[in-house]
Amino acid sequence: MTNGKLTVIGSGDAFCSDGRFNSCYYVEWGDKNILLDCGPTSLAAIRKCYLDPMAVDIIVISHLHGDHIAGIPFLVLEADKADKRKKPLTIITPPDGERRIKEVSALLYPDAISMFQNLDIRFVQYNKNEALEIEGFRMKFFEVSHNPLVNPHGFRIEKDSKILGYSGDTGWTDNLYQIADNADLFICECNFYEKETLTHLNYKKIIAEQQNLKAKRMLLTHFGKESLAHYSKIEGEKAEDGKCIAF
Ligand SMILES: [Zn+2]
Ligand SMILES: [Zn+2]
Repeated sequence: MTNGKLTVIGSGDAFCSDGRFNSCYYVEWGDKNILLDCGPTSLAAIRKCYLDPMAVDIIVISHLHGDHIAGIPFLVLEADKADKRKKPLTIITPPDGERRIKEVSALLYPDAISMFQNLDIRFVQYNKNEALEIEGFRMKFFEVSHNPLVNPHGFRIEKDSKILGYSGDTGWTDNLYQIADNADLFICECNFYEKETLTHLNYKKIIAEQQNLKAKRMLLTHFGKESLAHYSKIEGEKAEDGKCIAF
């Protein structure tokens, strides 16, 4: 059995509320290092955890909001200019991910397209309800309830008999049952404490559904200002930047 180790790189919302870094999780799993999302603060935050951004093999993107993808241009810049990287990198995205990531990279660094060409970078696009087998991991992707302009998804990653589930950014959707089902670790966004929206979850809804979300372990994350104001009342496991979890 191949166990994984997850380090919370960023447990904050888009605004880095309370100084938390943007969404990013570093998963050491077997002989691969997988990044779940890569917000703009990720390079600094990965280094604060004494991990190496250049050792990442696979990046899986949940949706195309800036707080989940805007670290990629800097990671690619370092890989090309500073690291002279030879190691392959696979970037797994929802539809239109490759175009948007290259476009934002080229706005920030005009020679970015040649950087993508110089490096051994492969983009893989997933679609909703699609199952992919990538570098020894089984991945399945589910549509979630967030701004449809950013192609939002949650997903499950499995290797041997271990399952990692990730909600991405989402309001309530019954697809969360499938994402969380029997997961050894289910990372669930908790942007709000009680505020109800279609695009983010709140703690009260998560608690109401906890019995139906049949994960073995649930980690709440993506805390915004309102949920942080009620932080001491949030029971269960809460993500903190730098926290490590074996699963
Ligand atoms: Zn977000
Ligand atoms: Zn978002």
